[in-house]
Amino acid sequence: MLSFMESNKIKTFVWDVDNTLWDWISYAARTYPAMSEIIAEEAGVERGLVEQCMQAYYTEAETMESSWLVQGLDKRGLFDGSDMDQGELIAKLQKSFHTNRERSLALYPGIEEVLEEATRRGIGHLILTDAPAFHAASRLRHLDVDQSHFRAMIAMEDSLVHKIPKEHHHRFEDGRYGLEIPVYRVGVEKPHTDLETALQMTREQIREQVCIIGDNGAKDMALAARYECVGLHAAWGRPQQENLNTLSRFAPTRVLRRSAETGFNAHSSDRIAEIYSPDSILQMMEWR
Ligand SMILES: [Mg+2]
Repeated sequence: MLSFMESNKIKTFVWDVDNTLWDWISYAARTYPAMSEIIAEEAGVERGLVEQCMQAYYTEAETMESSWLVQGLDKRGLFDGSDMDQGELIAKLQKSFHTNRERSLALYPGIEEVLEEATRRGIGHLILTDAPAFHAASRLRHLDVDQSHFRAMIAMEDSLVHKIPKEHHHRFEDGRYGLEIPVYRVGVEKPHTDLETALQMTREQIREQVCIIGDNGAKDMALAARYECVGLHAAWGRPQQENLNTLSRFAPTRVLRRSAETGFNAHSSDRIAEIYSPDSILQMMEWR
């Protein structure tokens, strides 16, 4: 797809994160059931009921990344008749959440090599994600990756920032969210991102110099098509049906539908290619 001359002009890789750099779906498919089990035990009710209530809560919050689940379930009356200690339950859930993150959130094999090789060749990396900045940053912070590969993270405005507990405010006061790199927040999701503003580049520069790498056809690749730049459709991030089935018990329909939008009509741009492993980026760029 890329001629040698063309690949030589690429100066910036714009990476999606969830299901592109790391496997968010498998991680989530472990995390939410584990939390529901703890809640069911505490509330003394069936897991199915907890799952229903969690889904209702996340649907109302319009995201699975809302941090006030316990309070939300309490409001729905799930703990009526139990002697639930809110602080204790939240601490238990956080512990389970963190253990799962440590166990199952990791870069896909081969990603680190691509980051290193590209950096060595003078290509800059940027993160562009539709996840809320607070959560995207905490995933990156806990990952075993050299953050200095990335120039910045561009993530969604946390519409819930004002509700983030006071003790966490210092993490994003400097716009870094506890990361070594700056975090910029945008208000629109891909593919509607204003790349010119986000990347501080002209349309012409974006077309020539940017390569967008992401798993989602309707977001990442549609964005590449909009700007006529190179798009690498990361097929390694395609979620397994089993994990989607698990998540369908918790996720708002909209979130699930968007997670599964991996298909893309390749005819809409001849500069977009599906690739099956991070390693093939090295081949595509003719670096090996
Ligand atoms: Mg993604």
